[in-house]
Amino acid sequence: MAQSPLPRQSGNPFLPVHLCFFAVFLFSAFLTVHEALELKTSYEDRQRAQLSEIQKNLDSQFQESVDELVYYEKMLSYALGHPLDSDNAREAITRFRHLRVQPQWQLQLNSPRSMPLNGVSDAWMARDSLLQRDPVRIDEEIRAALEFSFIMQFSDPDHDFHSRFWYISRAGFYISSRPPQSAQELELSYATMVQRNYFRALAPPQTPANRLRWTSGYQGLFNEGLMLTLSTPIISNGYWYGVLSMDFPQARIRDLMAKTRHTLLQGNMVFLDRKMDEIARLHAPDEVPLNPEQRQLLLGRMQHEPSGILRLGTKFASWSKLENVDGYIINVQTLKQGMQQELGRVSLFLFGMWILFVLLLAVAHQVIFRLVRRMDDLSARLTWRANYDGLTRLLNRNAFFEQFVAQAARCQQQGQPISVIQLDVDHFKKVNDTWGHHAGDQALIRVASVISHTLRKYDSAGRIGGEEFCIVLPETRLEEASAVAERIRARLAAKTILVNASTTFNITLSAGVSSSEEQDDYHAESLQARADSRLYLAKTSGRNRVCSKD
Ligand code: GH3
Ligand code: MG
Ligand code: MG
Repeated sequence: MAQSPLPRQSGNPFLPVHLCFFAVFLFSAFLTVHEALELKTSYEDRQRAQLSEIQKNLDSQFQESVDELVYYEKMLSYALGHPLDSDNAREAITRFRHLRVQPQWQLQLNSPRSMPLNGVSDAWMARDSLLQRDPVRIDEEIRAALEFSFIMQFSDPDHDFHSRFWYISRAGFYISSRPPQSAQELELSYATMVQRNYFRALAPPQTPANRLRWTSGYQGLFNEGLMLTLSTPIISNGYWYGVLSMDFPQARIRDLMAKTRHTLLQGNMVFLDRKMDEIARLHAPDEVPLNPEQRQLLLGRMQHEPSGILRLGTKFASWSKLENVDGYIINVQTLKQGMQQELGRVSLFLFGMWILFVLLLAVAHQVIFRLVRRMDDLSARLTWRANYDGLTRLLNRNAFFEQFVAQAARCQQQGQPISVIQLDVDHFKKVNDTWGHHAGDQALIRVASVISHTLRKYDSAGRIGGEEFCIVLPETRLEEASAVAERIRARLAAKTILVNASTTFNITLSAGVSSSEEQDDYHAESLQARADSRLYLAKTSGRNRVCSKD
């Protein structure tokens, strides 16, 4: 037999605890992620602002050279339109007429303050249709170029940002802030210059609209490494005379980057030309800040946005297009570098605090979880004690009658019979007196055990007095209930109870049985009273028997 379960506290008491802690965890995680995103945004803003500052510094340095070139261009164009007529100039023209047939020549005014014109022969020029000594304009151009060579004195290759500055004429000569050291160098320089794009791409009709043109990076002729050249065409009275150019070698760009770099902006900084090829970098040559895929991704974004920032794996790449140069500046910062900065340290602190909070939360959860478990155990024990008899583990009087009433109502509703057995141990006082109280308790436990093992799972049994028991059997007729009572009586009578190793005794019981079918009475009290009166009959008619009739 299993006792019918009594109503117990419903629901899982741990669920609200788990839910509360989970909600606090989620909320803290949400706040931390929210703060982390805020920090990321301000980190990105700061990166962009720092790079933009560097870009402006670079731009202003380039601006000086660009302004200089524009100024020289205006001056040369003006000189071409208004050539000076002096004895010196006339003498120079006469000398030029002799020199122009020589393979290489230099023409300089008799003044240490001028630069030489470096030329090739008429015959040399025949190899290239773009080159031409216009008979009407050549004298004026020679005069203007000599005049211009005075101004070139002001160009200082060692202190200017640009390393070299020069005029290439299509009329077979050039003037440079760095004059050639030999006849071979002169010819090689001129031959190379007229082949370069900074010269050929400015010839009409493809002269660019804004007239200032930047080359992409290329290797200089005299081991200067990679360089960029800015050039502008010299056009006067609709005639294209040649090109004015400036060189910006890699080393100077790198020096400028190092000088203008913000102390806060750590990372690998790279300068790219218009084709997005690297010109200069501020980190070790063997360091590869981005892998090819990341580089591709970054260049893709740079095509569409003049400045921005992009996260590539654990790195942040910020870029900015220069205004005065056809080029870009990029800075790539690793996670480690970012973490060493103020915002990185704040992020680490935030993360650490959150981890600490989560650990404390886990500890608090464990403490409260154990507390709730103990309370739940206690509550279960109290509930059991309120409903069961501690000695026999059968239902106590109150709980039994509660069940009895409920079962009787259910059987009545379903039109089923219900029967009751009232039991009392025979001469129990004598057991106590003879074998002691403890033996009496053992006997009671044995009675309860016999009852429990004889009943079905939906029957209920209770200890309703000292050695009195009551059993309720739903859906059971009087006859069947009497048989159950008889079985209990017979089994108990057959049991031997052990007092000690050498002493045993036997006990018997008497039982009275009643059923609802007798008088169609489902009233618990009257059913029990009738069973009790039949128990009395069993007692008076000799004990150790079952009585189911009046
Ligand atoms: P009868 O056959 O007429 O029922 O005789 P009886 O001796 O059993 O008489 P009665 O029912 O009046 O006696 C009940 C005795 O049961 C009295 C009491 O000492 C004893 N008793 C009641 N509760 C307990 C208990 O929990 N343990 C023990 N050992 N004895 C108990
Ligand atoms: Mg009694
Ligand atoms: Mg008795």
